[in-house]
Amino acid sequence: MECSICVHTEKTKKIIDGICVDCLTYKKYPIDFNKLKKEVENILQQLKNKKYSCILAFSGGKDSSVALKILVEDFNIKPLCVLVDNNYLSDIAIENAKNLARYYNLDLLILNRDFTEIFNEVIKKGESPCRRCSRLIMREVWRIAKMLNIKYIITGHEIPFGHSVIREMKEGIKMIRLLSPYKLTEEDKYNILKNLPFKKPNLYGYTTNCLVLGVALERFYEKYGFSFEIDRIATLVRLGLLDKNKAKEYLKKPEVPEELKEELRRRGLKI
Ligand SMILES: [Zn+2]
Repeated sequence: MECSICVHTEKTKKIIDGICVDCLTYKKYPIDFNKLKKEVENILQQLKNKKYSCILAFSGGKDSSVALKILVEDFNIKPLCVLVDNNYLSDIAIENAKNLARYYNLDLLILNRDFTEIFNEVIKKGESPCRRCSRLIMREVWRIAKMLNIKYIITGHEIPFGHSVIREMKEGIKMIRLLSPYKLTEEDKYNILKNLPFKKPNLYGYTTNCLVLGVALERFYEKYGFSFEIDRIATLVRLGLLDKNKAKEYLKKPEVPEELKEELRRRGLKI
C-alpha cells in the first residue's frame, strides 16, 4: 500500500487509513511558509550592501546556484562563496561554481578535501553517505565563518529545520536554509538558472553535483530493496515541490554506468 499524499509505502513508513504517519503529522502541524519567508527576509535585509556579510555554502549544484541568484539579484547581497571539493564533485558542478562566481564578480574559496576514506567505509556497509558528508562539509564552512568572523552561512536547502529556516550553530553562527520559503519545483529552478552560466550534469539520484550518490544508492538498494533518499523525496512530494511520477523515477535503483564507476575508482573509491 502506498501513501495517498507522498511516495512512502508500507515498506518505508507506517500507513494509517491510506496516509503515512509523516503526512499525518504534517497535516496536523503544517509549515507556515509566509512565516518562513518573513524569517528569511528579516535576516537578508540586515546583510544587504555589505561585502562578506555572509557565506554561501556553494556546491555548484542547482540549489545553491539558485540561492546565489536570489542573494545577489533580489537582495543585493555579496556573499563569500565557499565550495568544499570532497574529490567526488562532478567537474561540471565545479565549473558552474567558478562560472557563476565570476559572472557575479564574487570571490570563490575552494577547499580541497578528500572524503575517499569516509565514502569507502560507508559504501562498504551499504549505508547512506549523505549525512556524514554534509556534516563534514558544514564543519569546514563553519571554520571559515569563524575565522573570518562571519555570522551567517546561507545554504540552498529547500526543506526547513522543522518550522524555521534558521539553525543555531556553535559560537553564534547561524545557518540559513534560503530556499525553504520559496517552494520551488525542479522546473522553477532550471527556469531561474536559464540565462546564467549553469550546466546540468548527467548524474544518478536526486543530485546535480555528487558523483558518489548513484553507487551508494545501488549498494543500499541491493541491501534493503529501497532508496535511502525516500524520506527526503517523500518530503518534497508532501510539500508540493516534486511530482509523484518524477519522485518515483528518483527512487528507482539507478543503473550507474561502468564508465562512471571507473572514474570513481580512479579517484580512490573501492567499488
Ligand atoms: Zn505520506
